[in-house]
This record gives sequence, C-alpha cells and structure tokens, in this order.
Amino acid sequence: METKYLTQTELHTAACLLKEGALVGIPTETVYGLGANGLDEAAVRGIFAAKGRPQDNPLILHIPSADWLQRYCRDIPPAAYALAERFWPGPLTMILPRKACVPDVVTAGLDTVGVRCPDHEVCRQIIRLADVPVAAPSGNRSGKPSPTRVEHMREDMDGRVDAIVDGGPCRVGVESTIIDLTCTPPRLLRPGGITLEQLREVLGQVEIDPAVVRGMKAGEKPRAPGMAYRHYAPEAPVTVVSGAPEKTAAYIAQHAGEQDGVLCFDEYIALFPVQDSRRQVKYLGPSGDKGAQAHNIFDALRAFDHTKVTAIWAQCPDERDIGLAVANRLNKAAGFRIIEV
Ligand code: AMP
Ligand code: MG
Repeated sequence: METKYLTQTELHTAACLLKEGALVGIPTETVYGLGANGLDEAAVRGIFAAKGRPQDNPLILHIPSADWLQRYCRDIPPAAYALAERFWPGPLTMILPRKACVPDVVTAGLDTVGVRCPDHEVCRQIIRLADVPVAAPSGNRSGKPSPTRVEHMREDMDGRVDAIVDGGPCRVGVESTIIDLTCTPPRLLRPGGITLEQLREVLGQVEIDPAVVRGMKAGEKPRAPGMAYRHYAPEAPVTVVSGAPEKTAAYIAQHAGEQDGVLCFDEYIALFPVQDSRRQVKYLGPSGDKGAQAHNIFDALRAFDHTKVTAIWAQCPDERDIGLAVANRLNKAAGFRIIEV
C-alpha cells in the first residue's frame, strides 16, 4: 500500500481514516504510535501484522480525556481518578478491569485494559474527531527501538500503513509509565515519563514489577506481557556499563574496539576521538540531564543501524527519577548484559 504523509492541518483526514478501519501512525508526547480504531477488531489485527507483533502482547487504548474511562473500564478505583487529575494528559498508562466492549484482540484476552490520555494536542484532536478510542502500540517494527521522529516511522512503516501524521519530534522520548491498579499495592509494570517518585506521592506504596529491573527467566510471565520480549534493540549487540559516569566512560574507552559503537554522556566526548577510527560515537545527553537522555535514547540507538558497528557500549544513568526509564530501555536493548564498574 502507499502510505500518505499527513500534516497537522490534515487531522480530519487522519480521523476519517481511523474511523474507516485504516492504520495511522500518530505522534504522541512519548513516542510515535501505530493507531487503529480500538473497537474495530479487524483494524486492530492490522497493527499486529504491520509491526510483526506477537498476538499475546496487548495494546494501550488512547482516549482524549479521563471522562472516557468509564466507557471502557469497570470497577474504577478512586486512585485512577487521582492519577488522572494529577498526570493526564501525560505519559501514564493505567491498567484497569475492562468492559466487554473492548475487543479481546486489544487486550490479548486479558480481563484488564491499559488506558492513557496523551499530552499531544494533535493526537487528542485526532481521537476526538474520530470519536473512537485509538488502540496503539509504539510504531516501530517489533523488537526495534521505538520511533521518536517521523523519519523513524517512515523507516519502519512506509508501505505498511495507510497514513502517518507528522507531529514533530516526541517531547518525552520513552514510552509511557504503566501502573497496574488491579493489584494491591499498585504495581509499576514499566517505567516512563511519570516517575516512580511521582506515583508514590499520589499512591503511597507502589511495588516494582521484577520485569522492570531484570530479564525474565525461561517460562516466567511478567504482568505486562510486552516486557517478556527482546526490545528496543539495534542490530549490533549492546553492552551497558553501569556505575559512576567517570568510571564507566574510562571502562568503555579501555574496552571498546576501534570499530565499535559508543553511546556516551556529552561530557566524555573527548575520550572517544573519532577522526582516526571507524568508531561510531553517539551522545545520550549531559550526565546530569536525564530528561535529555530519555529524549535522545531511541534516536541514538536507531542511528547505529545506519552504521557498520558490530558491538555497542553504552553508559547508563542511575535509576532515580526518569533515569529508571532510561536504564530500563538501555538494559532491555542490551538483553540485560550489564557490566558494573
Ligand atoms: P507498546 O505501546 O508497544 O510499548 O506496548 C504496550 C505495552 O503495554 C506492552 O508492553 C504491554 O504488555 C502493556 N500492556 C498493555 N495492556 C496491558 C494490560 N492489560 N496488562 C498489562 N500490560 C499491558
Ligand atoms: Mg513498543
């Protein structure tokens, strides 16, 4: 199929396409999503086909405001409204019991559904105009780094979807935080733009799902099915080096081969001269600016796929604030191959 590229003045076209059952790449503040009418089973199946996504990995329903929650969820606890009040629109997905109108294909047969209200005016406008919830996972081909620019969507989805809406680069750069409100205490299933510290301010106690911090063992099933899969990975294998930034930079400078890729904090540029080598160096952002690191991480990981590197070494922030999300994406890209120095 030929993919149409839509601008921000063509949101009616995007909304009509969605309503008619088409697949549309849509910008959000986290990453670009691959959207379909979340009540149209056939359209949602198209998402799995276009991404090559395993059928047992459920999708998130995107809504334009919290007052749509009751349409798709039941037994909604007060905590859900407290979180919506504080963090929506924004990068937070809540897992809640679903109503029967949500097709099985969206939830992969689970009796819960993930719901989020994105903080991107273009995205909310499209959903409002379509007047249907938009089921959307990240718009990358399954396993690849998530798309944070329209060019990434073109790389992965050109010819596989009906349209892609250009909403500019994504502000946050990592996917939404996922909080499961169907268990006590609530459980963090995926770290993202809303931090664990912020969630605890509203919810008190929050547990961290083991899949956030370590790889799953054979046969082990995480509560967020997507966390079981290899993810976010460029073609070359990644090794994360974790510890104080000056130590990790020194370790990588000692161990990286002349033709390897290096993903480092901006301050360590001088340790990795590129003039005389075929080394590829990408910058994650200043070591003290984890927001910048989140914004850059997928673009940097993706950029290695346009090079010939056969191994990638990455510095990694500590896990406070949005560092937990950056570290999680890096560790998953590395298949949890982590060297502590
Ligand atoms: P993606 O948007 O590609 O990052 O994928 C959505 C993520 O949300 C996946 O990791 C899913 O496992 C997770 N997710 C969606 N719905 C549910 C649910 N009902 N329960 C647990 N996790 C979910
Ligand atoms: Mg994804």
